[in-house]
Amino acid sequence: MKFVADAMLGRLAKWMRFLGYDVLYFKDIEDSQLVRIARSEGRILLTRDRGIPLRFRIKCILIQSEELQTQLQQILKEFPLNAESILKRCMECNSLLEKVDKTEVDGLVPEFVRIHRDEFYLCPGCSKVYWEGTHTQNMMESLNEMGIKLY
Ligand SMILES: [Zn+2]
Repeated sequence: MKFVADAMLGRLAKWMRFLGYDVLYFKDIEDSQLVRIARSEGRILLTRDRGIPLRFRIKCILIQSEELQTQLQQILKEFPLNAESILKRCMECNSLLEKVDKTEVDGLVPEFVRIHRDEFYLCPGCSKVYWEGTHTQNMMESLNEMGIKLY
């Protein structure tokens, strides 16, 4: 299942990527362009705009809440996710991450992190490096606090 999110849903798009969903997001984009991308790539359009399903014949999910928590719950209810897909996708650019060797992240991550962690993931799209550590833990804790459970 692939998605494209409207300009109002930047935070949701990032969180969905963290969870492993394939979500395109553009900050400045016309509705008609969003619809064209959704159609040509077979993506489900996520939108806060009630006008879109009225103006365009397109498969879309109307995101009802302004709150991230409720938005994520809505997504997870309709598109259940396996916890294993976490940390597979870049939060910034949606590319699939590649597992890389410690030696490949020399100079790209803080020395402390490089010494103490063994698993690193590199984004081929924007070169951001990820590792399982405080960042992932914080994200998971936030999900817990939001009452969001993964299966
Ligand atoms: Zn990236």
